Amino acid sequence: MERLKNKIRDIPDFPKPGIIFKDITPLVRDPAALRLAVHQLLSPFLGRDITAVAGMEARGFIFGSLVAWELGIPFVPLRKPGKLPYDVQSVSYDLEYGSATLEAHIDAFDCNDKVLLIDDLLATGGTAKASCELVEKLGAQVVACAFVVELDFLDGRKALDNYQVHSLLHY
Ligand code: IMP
Repeated sequence: MERLKNKIRDIPDFPKPGIIFKDITPLVRDPAALRLAVHQLLSPFLGRDITAVAGMEARGFIFGSLVAWELGIPFVPLRKPGKLPYDVQSVSYDLEYGSATLEAHIDAFDCNDKVLLIDDLLATGGTAKASCELVEKLGAQVVACAFVVELDFLDGRKALDNYQVHSLLHY
């Protein structure tokens, strides 16, 4: 895990003063580190009944689609509003200032799908919780949520207490 941690770069004061942004781009430009991260993300779920992976825009697309590809199951993008061309279901959630919305196509999942949610980072848990709600609104079941990075001090796990949470790196 130290090998992966060395590939996460701290960017102070991004996107605003006082925030230290965890930048995963050094990790994804290193093929061996990316492969390791993808395998570590999916390893607890090998042999489990998972039928689809959903990833949150935008960095969840990178890790989520690779996990889905590796497991040989469908990948579903959960997108910011107005990006998807067909009919959508949506969930809105509160941010520190304002609100955000995630959308997915109404036919994105089969009703008996068992879904693994993937994102790069768990902070307050708002995004992941809304994603779980969206998957469930579309009739599928969330099996677990997996993240490359978890910011333990923000206690995002508490928002996900009904779900299994798996994170590779803790800060
Ligand atoms: P939350 O909703 O507060 O848990 O924030 C998680 C969402 O914000 C995820 O979709 C992340 O991609 C993004 N995010 C928040 N902070 C960071 C960061 O430091 N690095 C990368 N992504 C972040």
